[in-house]
Amino acid sequence: MPSATHNLLLLLLFIHRLISISTVGLSLPSQTLSAAVDFGATTHSLPLAVLRPSSPSDIASLIRSARLSSPPLPISARGHGHSINGQAGARGGIVVAMSGGGRRRMSPPVNSREFGKTYVDVWGGELWIDVLNWTLANGGLAPRSWTDYLYLSVGGTLSNAGISGQAFHYGPQISNVFELDVVTGKGELVTCSQDENSELFHAVLGGLGQFGIITRARIALEPAPERVRWIRVLYSNFSSFTRDQEQLISLHGQQRFDYIEGFVIVDEGLINNWRSSFFSPSNPVKISSIGGGGRVLYCLELTKNYHHTSADSIDEEVEGLLRELDFIPASVFTTDLPYVDFLDRVHKSELKLRAKGLWEVPHPWLNLFVPASRIEDFDRGVFRGILGNNTSGPILIYPMNQHRWDERSSVVLPEEEIFYLVGFLRSAVPGSDDRTKSLEYLSDQNRQILKFCESAGIDAKQYLPSHRGRSEWRRHFGPDKWETFQRRKAEFDPSCILGTGQGIFHPSS
Ligand code: FAD
Repeated sequence: MPSATHNLLLLLLFIHRLISISTVGLSLPSQTLSAAVDFGATTHSLPLAVLRPSSPSDIASLIRSARLSSPPLPISARGHGHSINGQAGARGGIVVAMSGGGRRRMSPPVNSREFGKTYVDVWGGELWIDVLNWTLANGGLAPRSWTDYLYLSVGGTLSNAGISGQAFHYGPQISNVFELDVVTGKGELVTCSQDENSELFHAVLGGLGQFGIITRARIALEPAPERVRWIRVLYSNFSSFTRDQEQLISLHGQQRFDYIEGFVIVDEGLINNWRSSFFSPSNPVKISSIGGGGRVLYCLELTKNYHHTSADSIDEEVEGLLRELDFIPASVFTTDLPYVDFLDRVHKSELKLRAKGLWEVPHPWLNLFVPASRIEDFDRGVFRGILGNNTSGPILIYPMNQHRWDERSSVVLPEEEIFYLVGFLRSAVPGSDDRTKSLEYLSDQNRQILKFCESAGIDAKQYLPSHRGRSEWRRHFGPDKWETFQRRKAEFDPSCILGTGQGIFHPSS
């Protein structure tokens, strides 16, 4: 009998909720097959089985049993499987399916004297869209820090950081969590926070699923705004664009925008952005009509939230803020919509792409944190160099400030107060005649971008990192952070069974 199957049968003596088991020679059940792939659609890590836990103690039993197996069985939590490079996979092991199943596990929001804030407790596998709908329905509240797309799990984004245009003000999602319940790699269920078991708390936030499985998160809330004024303005001068972005993220009083992002437009002809409802085909904007034909343009994206009661002053406030900026005159595109529609904007694009069969295609995404001091070099070498004039998807660029992040978390950032997220969110089109849309072409460009950073001495750090081998990971973390990461691993997951899809550690007896 193959040893992996033998191990699995031993595990079954301990747990009873393994919903699908693939054994040698039998046809593979659909759950293990779908847990083998992710949004990236470029890797395939077939697990032996998928566990759909009904409580944290199911997970604890699984982990304790997996550690006894010889060799120990890999276990990965999987939220919504929206990783790119198999990070939520557990080849030859067990995937713990945290999301799905239809059962909501959220308590009513609480107005806490202790934290001086309102919060909600949610199951680690909840999707952010469901958290939003729940908190809105229970008191008109909402989390403060977001991702651009809400069909991601709480545990999945907290294991990375969770960033969007609010991060400059509130910090990433990991800076907006008060408390966690975590099942560690030793199979112990531990409550942790800044004050209680703080080492585990900081390890798990941004911890790439290496130290434990988040089963509950206590998330900060605020009264939800009702409406959003959403503005896009264009630049042809990169220095003006970044100067304005950096100026805007320094504003934290009443007179500020609530969301600051941006993207790069290198495509000739129509502005091609699947995240947009602005530049829809029925109202195409020709870059040439605003003097950008053949050149790279930069789009600054901003929002100002408001309530009906302050609707009278919103025009004036926005105009006052825009007056200070140096964008191309007459390139202001504005729309106004309910807050929830703004937060859920990417889902609309998802539905359109799904209808055309363009959602479930390979996504060779690359996300980098680039230090502000080198962003002009990055522009010259990448946006106006390596990319050419065809991008195959949006390229995000927006700055954040380091002091809104907690340096004790496991996240790795460049060593500068201001750094940019640059996200190449590109899709390959299988079978296309255009070679620039192939997976090979786009993956090769990603390699060129990384090589360019290395040779130009730009200390860029991958966000949602994917590295091959121990030495690359060590370089990613840098000596101090790597030492901490290893020490925490030895403390919380000594058998190295968790998060093997990340390829950082391998199970050891
Ligand atoms: P999975 O892919 O299922 O898991 C990711 C990692 O987290 C794995 O290592 C897994 O083992 C671990 N993990 C999952 N659940 C748990 C848990 N409960 N406890 C411990 N570890 C766990 N990110 C941003 O920051 N901002 C964005 O705006 C943004 N937009 C996106 C838009 C799209 C369309 C997509 C596909 C991704 C986007 N992402 C964004 C990236 C996304 O945040 C990460 O890929 C995130 O990990 C996805 O969440 P998930 O639930 O699918 O996680």
